[in-house]
Amino acid sequence: MEPALAQRIAAGEVVERPGSVLRELVENALDAGASSIRVTVVGGGLDLIEVSDDGQGIPFDELPLAFARHATSKILSEHDLEAIHTLGFRGEALAAIAAVATVEATSATSDGSAGARIVLREGKVTEQSRRARSPGATIAVRDLFAMQPVRRGFLPSRSAERAHLLALIRLYAIARPMVRFSLTLDGKEVFRSAGLGEPAALAAVHGAQAARLSPLGPRSIGDGQLHGYSGDPGFTRGDREGLLIILNGRWIRPKAWLAAIESAYQPILPHGRHPHAVLYVSIDPTLVDINLHPAKLEARVRGDDEMRRGLGALIRERLGNSVTPASLLANPLERPRQRLLPTPRRSLRETGGAYSQELDFSSMRVHGQIFRTAILVEAGNTLYLVDQHRADERALYELLTKQESHVASQELLEPLRLEARERDLESIEERLPELADLGFRVERFGRRTFLVRSQPIGLPGSAGAAVLESLAGGWDEGANWRERLLIDIACRAAVKRGTTLTDQEIDALMARWQGCAARAQCPHGSPIVAVVHAEDLARHFGWP
Ligand code: ADP
Ligand code: MG
Repeated sequence: MEPALAQRIAAGEVVERPGSVLRELVENALDAGASSIRVTVVGGGLDLIEVSDDGQGIPFDELPLAFARHATSKILSEHDLEAIHTLGFRGEALAAIAAVATVEATSATSDGSAGARIVLREGKVTEQSRRARSPGATIAVRDLFAMQPVRRGFLPSRSAERAHLLALIRLYAIARPMVRFSLTLDGKEVFRSAGLGEPAALAAVHGAQAARLSPLGPRSIGDGQLHGYSGDPGFTRGDREGLLIILNGRWIRPKAWLAAIESAYQPILPHGRHPHAVLYVSIDPTLVDINLHPAKLEARVRGDDEMRRGLGALIRERLGNSVTPASLLANPLERPRQRLLPTPRRSLRETGGAYSQELDFSSMRVHGQIFRTAILVEAGNTLYLVDQHRADERALYELLTKQESHVASQELLEPLRLEARERDLESIEERLPELADLGFRVERFGRRTFLVRSQPIGLPGSAGAAVLESLAGGWDEGANWRERLLIDIACRAAVKRGTTLTDQEIDALMARWQGCAARAQCPHGSPIVAVVHAEDLARHFGWP
């Protein structure tokens, strides 16, 4: 490779831990077009990491070259860098691995020429011979960091590394669902995927829980194509490892896209929980720059913002129109005493684990308010009891989040006053520009006094006051503060339970709620609707 090109793509590859070795070997196998990749690990990867593939292989005379620095068969010129089709392109990995381990590689190509074997110790070739084998390559990395005792001392524990290696293989199985993967740890096969496509790969990774992932898309967004799977709101984890973005077959972690997915889920997930979602994005490689990040985990994509918004919108829509079958009548927690009706027909088990049922308001009839708390709605064969406070909260919240920057706002006839606490002054002051973007013009007025002068058009009169109340609560929520503030405003401005509503108010509320993208859950994640099915009533009463 020309020195100038080598310079442009060099990332100064360092082998951090066994997981880095595994990644590089698996990615090489994928780049070689393997349809089956077998991984064998001993001792958390320190004793052995072996990756065996049935890809195109490496010819005998090129085998030493594969371990030379900046030797890659994947990029020949700067032109190739414009459209990278492979996972690797820097030609650094095998050289870096060979420098800190003993490596044995055997390989054969499918053109009938003899296979080859090579052994390298600390980067130097110590053996090279012909060796017959089927087409493909097997790279075995032994005694990793044996000569780097300090590095070895800083590694995660072997059991932590085993978990990490398993997580990586699961990730690749999802990223490349048409490739068969297997992982054997210390003599025991712990993972196997069939290479039969996305649903099979998700099932191999998640087992029965895979049924909680529903398909999304496909949809064209800007220059890209998007499809994937999103988990139901009850399928969560304490970390963000369940969120996968696969861009042209490569796992990436673009912060803005991940944040968009999280914020689509945020209103319906319990605090501190994170969703499961897998998004496959395909974009013409010439529009993607992957050579930004040393570990190639971020990418610059043309139309990035559009894709980010599209991702969020797709997930919001998916989550928006489904209710959990745990209805008022079916959920024993909500009716601890005696159950009025048998469990609805659509239990989780009977629907094969499918989580939710679509809300169907094609023929909606609003019957009125009950208990001064809920609205009774009939649609098709179902009665819906809609929590008035939560429905309003949802509608207000969506109105607020839909507001693009600089929304139309209306002046309040009389500004509202807030006396802020001394310790909140600074954080309130900092957030005034963002509030203004949301349509709330709030001004400092004297040392501890703020005035709300305007609020977005379309919000009830109480919204301005709700802003003040929320601000008075103090907002030290860091990155999440905006979302939390909006939820809080919506909650405070929404009609309370116990409020009698006129028919007009009911109709207006139902219309606003019906227009929501996510009708099933309030922004705090609680259900808005309880359902009663006509069949269940019929069964209960013994109607024919
Ligand atoms: P890169 O993947 O960036 O090209 P590597 O150091 O990972 O660099 O690999 C160097 C070269 O070795 C690759 O360009 C490829 O030609 C060859 N190679 C490595 N692993 C395999 C494999 N499993 N099958 C076929 N060729 C391989
Ligand atoms: Mg590589």
